[in-house]
Amino acid sequence: MTTRLHIKDQVGEPLERWLEAHGQKAFRLKQIEQWLYQHWATDFAEMRNLSTELRSELENDFTCNSVTQTECLKGAGDTRKYLLTLEDGETIETVLIRSARRETVCVSTQVGCPVQCAFCASGRGGLVRNLTSAEIVDQVFHVCRDIGRKITNVVVMGIGEPLLNLTNLIKALEQLCDSRYFGLGARRVTISTSGIVPGIQKLADMRQQWKLALSLHATRDELRAQFIPRRYRYSLEQVLDACADYREATGRMVTLEYALIAGRNDSRRDATELAEISRRLDAKINLIALNPISDALARPTDDDVKRFCRQLEDHNGRVTVRLSRGEDIQGACGQLRHHRKRKEADVRCSSEP
Ligand code: SAH
Ligand code: SF4
Repeated sequence: MTTRLHIKDQVGEPLERWLEAHGQKAFRLKQIEQWLYQHWATDFAEMRNLSTELRSELENDFTCNSVTQTECLKGAGDTRKYLLTLEDGETIETVLIRSARRETVCVSTQVGCPVQCAFCASGRGGLVRNLTSAEIVDQVFHVCRDIGRKITNVVVMGIGEPLLNLTNLIKALEQLCDSRYFGLGARRVTISTSGIVPGIQKLADMRQQWKLALSLHATRDELRAQFIPRRYRYSLEQVLDACADYREATGRMVTLEYALIAGRNDSRRDATELAEISRRLDAKINLIALNPISDALARPTDDDVKRFCRQLEDHNGRVTVRLSRGEDIQGACGQLRHHRKRKEADVRCSSEP
């Protein structure tokens, strides 16, 4: 049996050539693309304005959906967390976060994660494989179908390190943002990274309006080393320089993600240094209370989070806190995939990065 290609990996020229070889008129391309990107079709049978013959030829050569829902947990504010199964049986997580003004989808970019940060469930088993661009796009379309309308924002903060799967991520984001396809404004996309310097530089060179979030978690190299293993960790100086370049090249403000870990990175000194970095980079700080995955690292008390926040503000750090969203579902990405039986955790990805 030959494996069929995913049609979203073939749109544009390759599909144009395929249509020509099958004796089809050029305008069929536009029709197919509309079904894929505006109606989020998962089956060629849905493409009613194509002939039965063309639909079955397409079906012979391509697939048009790469994710199926295995589980959907609903949380406060109608936050939804999906466990999606891929064609090879691997699973990933996708989250919908709703607010009055936005419907944000948090997408995964890898099955597992090679970075293996000490506090993160996604990295626990290491990397299984990269997602294809179609698998990234299909997560967004799965949510659109589920809620019956187009979502407004995408945050790349799910399972995996996006900048270690940059080629497929860029292809996916280009399709999502292209006005001929899904037509999402580039400014409505946020990419979160643990600090992969070559990836940040590549993105800076592209000068897209995508927003960058840096998972900082520590203001000193020796402390950061306790959370992020050496293999994919760059020096803070390099990471912050790359972020400054990104800010400069794109004009977009960078966000600093900071997971507060009790007794480890929540001292007054940490707050002072974090505020200083945020001033230097002209960056906003997103505080997240750790969602513990083991006994080794603990979540600070709400009072400690408030105290840290006040200390940041005292030093002119611009800070927002993410505490409660989706507290009742398996929030921190990677947790649902790893512990499908537990039912408590909170969502770490944000609709307002
Ligand atoms: N790999 C990328 C994007 C996915 S992680 C990155 O690291 O940025 C998205 C965010 O969730 C990161 O800021 C990450 O540090 C944070 N995170 C991961 N596990 C967490 C946990 N257990 N509690 C709180 N935040 C967590
Ligand atoms: Fe990977 Fe991000 Fe989790 Fe670190 S925090 S293991 S980079 S997904």
